Amino acid sequence: MSRLAVKGGKPVRDVRTNPWPKWPVWDKSEEHTLLEVLRSGVWSYNGPRESEFNKAFAEFIGTKYALSVANGTVSLQLALEACGIGWGDEVIVPGLTWQATAASVVDVNAVPILVDVCEDTWCIDPAKIEEAITPRTKAIIPVHLYGSFADMDAITRIARKHNLRVIEDCAHKHGGEWNGRKAGSIGDIGSFSFQLSKLMTAGEGGALTTSDSGLYEKLDALRNCGRRPEKEKPAEPTPPKRLRRPDKAAGIYSDEGNFIQSGNYRITDFQAALLIEALKRLPQQNGLRQENARYFNSLLSGLPGVLPMQRDNRETMAAYYNFSFRYKQDDFKAPPATEFRKALSAELGCPVEASYEPLNACALYTPHTKPWRHKLTDKYWQEINPARFELPVCHRIYREESVCFHHCVLMGTKADMDLIAEAIQKVYENTEQIL
Ligand SMILES: *Cc1c(COP(=O)(O)O)cnc(C)c1O
Repeated sequence: MSRLAVKGGKPVRDVRTNPWPKWPVWDKSEEHTLLEVLRSGVWSYNGPRESEFNKAFAEFIGTKYALSVANGTVSLQLALEACGIGWGDEVIVPGLTWQATAASVVDVNAVPILVDVCEDTWCIDPAKIEEAITPRTKAIIPVHLYGSFADMDAITRIARKHNLRVIEDCAHKHGGEWNGRKAGSIGDIGSFSFQLSKLMTAGEGGALTTSDSGLYEKLDALRNCGRRPEKEKPAEPTPPKRLRRPDKAAGIYSDEGNFIQSGNYRITDFQAALLIEALKRLPQQNGLRQENARYFNSLLSGLPGVLPMQRDNRETMAAYYNFSFRYKQDDFKAPPATEFRKALSAELGCPVEASYEPLNACALYTPHTKPWRHKLTDKYWQEINPARFELPVCHRIYREESVCFHHCVLMGTKADMDLIAEAIQKVYENTEQIL
């Protein structure tokens, strides 16, 4: 028997002498490019770095277009608006995701329909999507959560059958591939976040990808106060003949040159400069994370009390926002998952966390705290009540099973993976100390 670190014993990893890889990653190239932007005075507004990044990102994802925006929350909102989704519409989202996936739907006055997830991938369950479809359903927002991929074959099939839009929330999946196609190129629109914790980062930031020129034009106008895309400007500005009310069926502005009401969702050229460098680093970093995750999953399969996430062989390139696995409480003779994570965190000197809170009981997804904005009608108020949805699988994952590490733990060596496995084994052998 050896004393667990959480009980004052010696940890498996001493992070003072053996620290985990740091995130974010940067060097002289970021310093250099940021200074260039500074000195140029072109700090924002469709700057040269922004155009360069948009082009490079579209090429990388494999779409005709990419547009960078302020963050990965407004990107979802703009994607919904470009699809003409709003009042009266329903949008299907997974119950296990960051709050923005559902909050963006409420922000365009539509109703998020929370759907349960698959227990072995933690991504939205296609069978339950079918059950949730009504005549009001307009779109599905699958989230490729942590290291998993939503089943895009099934989701695409359902969307075709019911004539729905698919907006991929790729905030965790920069560079991940399904059947050789990158996340963000499979649905109608891909939405990305470049927030500090994500696989590519500029501190904050987001992007939208699409190959549909109509959607692209709308997205470009929506991110830029409603202005039409620059190249679309007529040589001599002609004022619109007559103002027309926005018409959903016809798109959000008429062909006569009317603008669309929107706001400022732009990114700065400082962010774009960082993203150009981040994109160069991404393939190598994803490769390293994939290699370490593969090795670690092979160790996990030999360990008692834990289950690796199911890897789908249609996933041709992995991308890990988090490294996660499943805890089997009974095998550990019953300490709750919270105690297991605490013990593991103490052995390893890094955060070990639960999954997101299920959205029907999530402290940060509470539309009812804002009646002055969201109480449009009594009926709508009831429809956006998250508590009306049942998400038993999400709850089991959150409360009993989820064990999640930030992706930076996958950016070291196989020896790091061995230490995580050793820590799991140590907690297993000394489980009575945390009962
Ligand atoms: C981070 C995240 C977002 C929102 O991105 P921000 O850039 O933080 O606004 C949306 N969806 C998911 C799944 C995320 O993880």
